[in-house]
Amino acid sequence: MSQYWTDLVHKLDPYIPGEQPQDQQYVKLNTNENPYPPSPKVTATIDNYNKDHLKLYPDPESTQLRQALAQRFGVQQDNVFVGNGSDEVLAHSFQAFFKQSKPLVFPDLSYSFYPVYCGLYEIESKTIPINEDFSININDFDIDNGGIIIPNPNAPTSMLMPLADIEQLCKNNSSVVIIDEAYIDFGGESAIPLTRKYDNLLVIQTFSKSRSLAGLRLGYAIGHKDLIEGLNRVKDSFNSYPIDSLAQTAAVSSIEDDSYFQQTCQKIVQTREQASEQLTRLGFKVLPSAANFIFACHESRSAQELYSELKKAGVLVRYFNKPRIDNYLRITIGTEQEMQKLIATLSKILQQN
Ligand code: PMP
Repeated sequence: MSQYWTDLVHKLDPYIPGEQPQDQQYVKLNTNENPYPPSPKVTATIDNYNKDHLKLYPDPESTQLRQALAQRFGVQQDNVFVGNGSDEVLAHSFQAFFKQSKPLVFPDLSYSFYPVYCGLYEIESKTIPINEDFSININDFDIDNGGIIIPNPNAPTSMLMPLADIEQLCKNNSSVVIIDEAYIDFGGESAIPLTRKYDNLLVIQTFSKSRSLAGLRLGYAIGHKDLIEGLNRVKDSFNSYPIDSLAQTAAVSSIEDDSYFQQTCQKIVQTREQASEQLTRLGFKVLPSAANFIFACHESRSAQELYSELKKAGVLVRYFNKPRIDNYLRITIGTEQEMQKLIATLSKILQQN
């Protein structure tokens, strides 16, 4: 509290990111980072980067990067927007499209940054309860609204919604529909091709998960050029240079190395399936995951206790003390070795009473 704050700042309820411990070496399975390094091509590009370029402002339009993304997704450059992490792309989207006379709608269990942006931009919202089994019933979204946003796969449940449902949403609404595909590369089918058919659909993805570049901060949106122009109007009223020149160059190299990208995604999917089986054998119910994390609850031990015990043993996972999910752990898929450490530590904890 401070006398210097505006009323709005007093009212904010900021997002709390997962821990990034600076003190101890943990097996870190708590923030859905990729356990593998970025592509060797990215490393080479950073090593060879001409540091003299740092004295200049970067290309404000990130032209080469947008071109590379456009080519990858078979769209035009004016269908692509890039931002400083998909969180920034989301924030600009909320400001550009969702402050309407009708409420923005999103699932009651979804990415916890959405209500935070609603607070920051004073956007009215309404949450739609998802089913008991955490699946999403698309017909429940059939209400008068000023916009819809859904993560697919959903976070933190890890569950995938069929593309046909997304198409139905786009068809039945004249408002903007945003699909947040932060985790789509781990087993889902992207809605990007639908952006050519539906002017109101914006698909947002990130370099943070499947491309092992969370530290570089890069996200992007694909959609009709009028939506992209709206985002550019917000961006250029906020920060003309959100993507530094090193990040622009490194990201292009990441897109160019498709085989490394495919390989690491496949490895994570394989490890996820293995870990899900092993956790099931240990008495966990594991939701069907299409992401680089799993959401699991144990038949007899509380999630909060398991989280604390794991942390004591040097394994960090995510626990949300929130209604409906306070008995679940969200576990990021690490390397095979890291997952073995998790399973071994959990087995030990579960043997103790
Ligand atoms: N969307 C979802 C559903 C997420 O879980 C995250 C990661 N916290 C993001 C967007 C943001 O990712 P980033 O800003 O690293 O691109």
